[in-house]
Amino acid sequence: MRKVTAIVLAAGSGSRMKSSTKKQFMELKGKPILWYSLFAFEEYGVDQIILVTGKEDIEYCKKEIVERYGFEKVTDIVAGGKERYESVYNGLGKVTGDIVLIHDGARPLISQDIIERCIEGAIKDGACVAGMPVKDTIKIINDNKIVIDTLNRNCLWITQTPQSFMYELVKTAYDKMQKSDFDNITDDAMVVEQFTNHKVKFVEGNYSNIKITTPEDILVAESLLKQ
Ligand code: C5P
Repeated sequence: MRKVTAIVLAAGSGSRMKSSTKKQFMELKGKPILWYSLFAFEEYGVDQIILVTGKEDIEYCKKEIVERYGFEKVTDIVAGGKERYESVYNGLGKVTGDIVLIHDGARPLISQDIIERCIEGAIKDGACVAGMPVKDTIKIINDNKIVIDTLNRNCLWITQTPQSFMYELVKTAYDKMQKSDFDNITDDAMVVEQFTNHKVKFVEGNYSNIKITTPEDILVAESLLKQ
């Protein structure tokens, strides 16, 4: 029987939220934003949860989130790094599962079906990303906001989390990255794409699976939760 670990990332500073409370701890319908993804992983098909947060927030997460809400699958609360990929790497060091789902704690609207598709996808294809087709037209611009190119929308997908992998594959990719030159790493699939020959496959996410980044996202998430 394969064991599944979820790494939940909550070590970002959330500067774009312009709030004195870090966004992962802000409340959404009476619960911290971070509660929603921990709850989803606790309930649906995951054996171990590793929570990554700021060094200064470890005690708060332990007492006010993990113990308060009784999340029994959280085995470790580890300090993140300055960049997202550093936080992931610290989390990877504690994984005991064969399959790992890496998830932004700032995406509270994760659902059971997305988690299940990610687990199945990792088993079948080794490396998967939740996502959806892009709805808008995407253009590449230069520093002066002049359009350089317009991309073919039929081959563009927005990339969400969870991103799911067989553990050995993603750990090997991250280990290689540490020893290499790299730039602008914004998700985990990129690490596998750039540092292994393994192909990454999309599984269907959900347009509701938004990342809370700016204040209006809270209003959108509240209204989606009501549904
Ligand atoms: O900054 P970004 O929006 O890409 O963050 C996505 C997720 O990664 C958030 O849940 C955030 O808390 C987390 N993160 C982290 N460590 C960082 C930066 C971001 O755990 N250094």
